Amino acid sequence: MSDLTYFDNNATTRPLDEVVAAMLPFLRNQYANPSSVHQFGQSVRHAVECARTQVADLIGADAKEIVFTSSGTESIQLAICGALAFRKPRKQVIVSSVEHSAVGKMTAQLEREGIEVVEIGVDKNGLLNHEELAERLSEDTALVSVMWANNETGAIFDVARIAKIVKARGVPLHLDAVQAIGKIDLRVSDLPVAFVSMAAHKFHGPKGAGALYVRRRTRLAPTILGSQESQRRGGSENVAGIVGMGVAAEHAAKHFVTDARRISALRDRLERSICSSSELAKVNASSAPRIPNTTNIGFRGLQAEALLLLLSEAGVCASAGAACSSGSLEPSHVLQAMSVDPEYAHGSLRFSLSRFTTDEEVDRVIELVPSIVNRLAALGAR
Ligand code: PLP
Repeated sequence: MSDLTYFDNNATTRPLDEVVAAMLPFLRNQYANPSSVHQFGQSVRHAVECARTQVADLIGADAKEIVFTSSGTESIQLAICGALAFRKPRKQVIVSSVEHSAVGKMTAQLEREGIEVVEIGVDKNGLLNHEELAERLSEDTALVSVMWANNETGAIFDVARIAKIVKARGVPLHLDAVQAIGKIDLRVSDLPVAFVSMAAHKFHGPKGAGALYVRRRTRLAPTILGSQESQRRGGSENVAGIVGMGVAAEHAAKHFVTDARRISALRDRLERSICSSSELAKVNASSAPRIPNTTNIGFRGLQAEALLLLLSEAGVCASAGAACSSGSLEPSHVLQAMSVDPEYAHGSLRFSLSRFTTDEEVDRVIELVPSIVNRLAALGAR
């Protein structure tokens, strides 16, 4: 896979070499259980606690407020279910219409169990309708859960404003920060937020490690029972993954500002070149504040699946915000919620960059995309 051009970093990122190096001892010699009282166990415990501090520092939290999990999905579902358990008799959860399926699948299940789920709409740039949020908050609202940054378009919600609206009604707020972490500045100390979900593999850490920030004195019922993580998440810890997550967090804290500058310049060049070389191209959520690494471009009248296949044949990994069902592509629920013209939505591709993306890779995609687009347009591949 040496000549692979990887533009799918919102799906997952390449782990840093220092992350892998830090993990290896915990897969080999340092295998003790951190719950064991002997010295061997306690030295491993020490590594877990260092990682907790590294993750907490990245978001301006206290180490005691970090619960390690297995993924972004687990963190999100722990926050939602764990908060709801203490909010009875309130029976309403508010989310946005552009959430990741980790939220959507959970709220669909909650609906089947009798919880009322309210979806707040977004505008054509994918930004939350704050007035609608304020109107829909009620005496029955148990939790508000929205994303910080959107995985498909990169649009960043105004979480300070959202947190203010939600706090005024005394309702806890959960933020899915899986795509925001390591890309923009996240300070939970300045924000009245109860829970924040994270996943290591989205910021150059390993898969299988996630974390949930739980604000001090916020009640959370565990979804996996056990004594670990201060009784908030049972199961012997994935020590290597946690250590890797800590190293990735420390690296992100040190480098995200310079990385963001370089990555957004690459992204902007990619976007500008593609749009100027093809009159069929239009950027989705172009006027929203966006995380620096993401662009989502619609190609009028084309099918994302065909574009992706031809890109993949040429060694370029990108993604579509669309689910393939029985051979036909449904436009993504995110683009639908933004009322993107279906002519563009069906042909929308996401290119997501990272600190490893090079100028040469951007050049390659800039050169390749117009020829693929022209080929498909000439075939009338609609
Ligand atoms: N939330 C968002 C916004 C995501 O982009 C993702 C993954 O793509 C998740 C949640 C789920 O994270 P994980 O794959 O670590 O379970």
